[in-house]
Amino acid sequence: MSAMLKPIIGKEAVQIEITNACIYNCANCTRLVGHHQKPYMMDLDYFKTALDSLKGIPIMIGIMGGEPLLHPRFKEICQYLQKMFPPEKLGLWSTLDKRFKHYAPLIAATFGAVLPNNHTHKQIFHSPVLVSSREILYGHYLDAVKSCWLQNNWSSSINPQGAYFCEVAAAIDLILKTKTAFDIHTVWWRQKPAAYLKQVKVLCSKCGVCLNLTTRRDTEKIDDIDEWWLSRLQKTSPKVKAGLFKRYTGPIFDQHQVQVNQFRSDLRYFHRIAKQFGLKLVLQRNGYLKPFVR
Ligand code: SF4
Ligand code: SF4
Repeated sequence: MSAMLKPIIGKEAVQIEITNACIYNCANCTRLVGHHQKPYMMDLDYFKTALDSLKGIPIMIGIMGGEPLLHPRFKEICQYLQKMFPPEKLGLWSTLDKRFKHYAPLIAATFGAVLPNNHTHKQIFHSPVLVSSREILYGHYLDAVKSCWLQNNWSSSINPQGAYFCEVAAAIDLILKTKTAFDIHTVWWRQKPAAYLKQVKVLCSKCGVCLNLTTRRDTEKIDDIDEWWLSRLQKTSPKVKAGLFKRYTGPIFDQHQVQVNQFRSDLRYFHRIAKQFGLKLVLQRNGYLKPFVR
């Protein structure tokens, strides 16, 4: 099994998720926004320890949320990023909402890449997260995880509980609290895939991303949730209490007609979001968009 999991240093980036508060409430959010009783804001000292743990990592370091610009200490976070790493090593994933426009110079001075996404693109879809792969595939869920497109394409992640081989596993564990996070006081990202297996067993087994379920447009706002998760969330999740969900009873492995990452080739979408924020994005050789103040 472990031979099929992508090593952390072979992934697109490693994320530090400084908050899981967000200004949106997208359908099937991969951060499970809306399901936490109280969103967190990462403690500044913890953030510094998390960043220190990444010294020497050969891939991009991303700052992400939720919406990272909601963090009340975003300025100090950027100052520490500038002290520790050059801009070309750092990326920001954000909605770049106009209300945070005053951060444009700080963002341009800190990050060598910005990935703006306000989830308004017509081709942005999320497949269900809150469908337990083990409930559907029993022991065979491990085969689905080995070909899970998200762990093969995206990031590992640090949140206030520690570090995880997959960013969605990190979000799931904020609810399940399985105590399987890597300790950020160690060089955790050097761990070999065999060390991810504990997280796979308790977190991927509860995740539906590897099942390629029917996608939903982000702007629909509701989540597809199976019985296992509903019984877990119905007393605690504000999103479930508000009725923003649909019981998942549909087929599996049927989303092949919809490419969830199709929107990434629409550069006009990214330029449009950046422009209203006061930033100009310039395409770099590595395929990322570097921010400049307009
Ligand atoms: S998917 Fe939507 S709700 Fe979830 S973190 Fe991103 S912008 Fe926020
Ligand atoms: S199944 Fe879910 S938690 Fe596991 S690797 Fe895929 S996206 Fe991550």
